[in-house]
Amino acid sequence: RTLGDWLEYWAKESPDKEYIVYSDRDLRFTWKKFNDRVDNMAKGLISIGVTRGSNVGIWAQNVPDWLTFLYATAKIGAVAVTVNTSYRLDEIDYLMKNSDMHTLCMTDGVAGSCYTDIIYELIPELKTKQRGKLKSDRFPKLKNVVYIGQEKYRGMYNTAEILLLGKNVPDNEFKRLRSLTNCHDVVNMQYTSGTTGFPKGVMLTHHNIANNGYLTGVHMNFTKDDKCCICVPLFHCFGVVLATMCCLTHGSTQVMVEKFDPLLTLVSVHKERCTVLHGVPTMFISMLNHSMFSLFDMSSLRTGIMAGALCPEELMKEVNEKMYMNLTSVYGMTETSPGMTQSRVEDPFEVRCTTVGREYEFTEVKVLNPETGEECAVGEEGEMCCRGYNVMKGYYKNPVATAEVIDSNGFMHSGDLGVKDENGNFRITGRIKDIIIRGGENISPKEVEDYLYKMPGVKDVQVVAVASERYGEDVGAFIIQKDGYDLNTQDVRDFCKGHIAKYKIPRYVFIVDSFPMTGSGKIQKFRLREMALELCE
Ligand code: ATP
Ligand code: MG
Repeated sequence: RTLGDWLEYWAKESPDKEYIVYSDRDLRFTWKKFNDRVDNMAKGLISIGVTRGSNVGIWAQNVPDWLTFLYATAKIGAVAVTVNTSYRLDEIDYLMKNSDMHTLCMTDGVAGSCYTDIIYELIPELKTKQRGKLKSDRFPKLKNVVYIGQEKYRGMYNTAEILLLGKNVPDNEFKRLRSLTNCHDVVNMQYTSGTTGFPKGVMLTHHNIANNGYLTGVHMNFTKDDKCCICVPLFHCFGVVLATMCCLTHGSTQVMVEKFDPLLTLVSVHKERCTVLHGVPTMFISMLNHSMFSLFDMSSLRTGIMAGALCPEELMKEVNEKMYMNLTSVYGMTETSPGMTQSRVEDPFEVRCTTVGREYEFTEVKVLNPETGEECAVGEEGEMCCRGYNVMKGYYKNPVATAEVIDSNGFMHSGDLGVKDENGNFRITGRIKDIIIRGGENISPKEVEDYLYKMPGVKDVQVVAVASERYGEDVGAFIIQKDGYDLNTQDVRDFCKGHIAKYKIPRYVFIVDSFPMTGSGKIQKFRLREMALELCE
């Protein structure tokens, strides 16, 4: 089924049931009402020239019409290019060119991000050219800019205008395009997080993401009575697939948080009696440590996903206990739609807290020796590789980069290190590029992080390589402290002595207030490595 098929299925099956809820502004859409709005928006997009194969950017926080634009493009065979909300001038410039964007739909971002200023700077023609007649020197393929909201900006359409235009479009063109869509069309182009470097455009089909979302829900026993709180950004595969596609295919309600905020998320879960909550590790840390955490009733929660980055065991346990949920974890990447492995909600507590579970149905996940390409034995560390329906169509306009990661047997090479245990569950042990090599000893940053996470006063920790004349690389730890603590290097080293091997003990400790993040809430380790170098000079 295509995304449009699913949406229409639920609009018929449970028309008056709530699909999308914004608790803070009491905005509620039933399946029927939402599906009607999507059709109307799709016709509006047709009227401004969007058609099968057009690339339509969505650059916005999780605003109500984000999903309307996603499904509207999906229904007419266009491609939603989902844009990271932390992008600024150079990045959006690169992405719009790289993706041959036809229409850009955007808000003004959240406080102070001023996307409109950026767009006027890149496309000065907007101010002089008539709408619908845009010709940009910089982006020759770009035809329209749509402002998602009620405000009027020169040269741009706004949502109300698109809806109005849609009302005058005859049904037949919409029906024609709708009937051409099939599940192997590319429906979504996502750029990778940029954790390790420049983001790459990943082409994903209906088949890729609808099935991945569906199976993710199966692993958590999803039903249409579930209410899933979505505070992760929609532009990222976590928000759009693991969260949204899962609700879409199971007929469940999505309780949306416009931009992650620990308090707003806690309030939404409490007020709407959500049954499911997802997040990257740093989001759960900030909710658990919020001064008002204990005021909220989390007892409606039953499950959720922690994913996106290495999940510390202690944190998994804390969330399970304090939020009363049987948390699962997903391991994956944009290139695999994203789910590759997941722990199942009925797995024992220990399995859910210490592993990322087993492979998705209809996929094969193998740990391969990065040098020889042979499959590793149980318990042996190697590169996580995956083959199946979930592997992307490829990087957009980049067959060379695609061939570098998908081998001749069809296996996607993740660049992540992992181990398979005797029960078939996987553990992620780090990224190939992150490994610290100190005087010939390989050190896993994750292992040191897991240990330091247990230290009183440590709220969050990241371990990176720091260049060393003597050893080539040495261990550096960045620590965010809990309130009321004043840790120093010696305290941290003392805490390690006798508990972990001497060579793994951080030589450098940097106490910081925050870590540099990607827009999807991931920590940019490459930036931390640069910071460590500067701090050590
Ligand atoms: P880029 O490819 O641009 O450097 P990125 O790899 O962070 O960025 P994503 O596709 O968003 O972009 O993230 C996938 C990566 O996230 C995986 O390759 C893995 O390193 C990490 N990851 C995801 N889930 C988990 C998990 N449960 N445990 C450990 N790491 C995870
Ligand atoms: Mg990646």
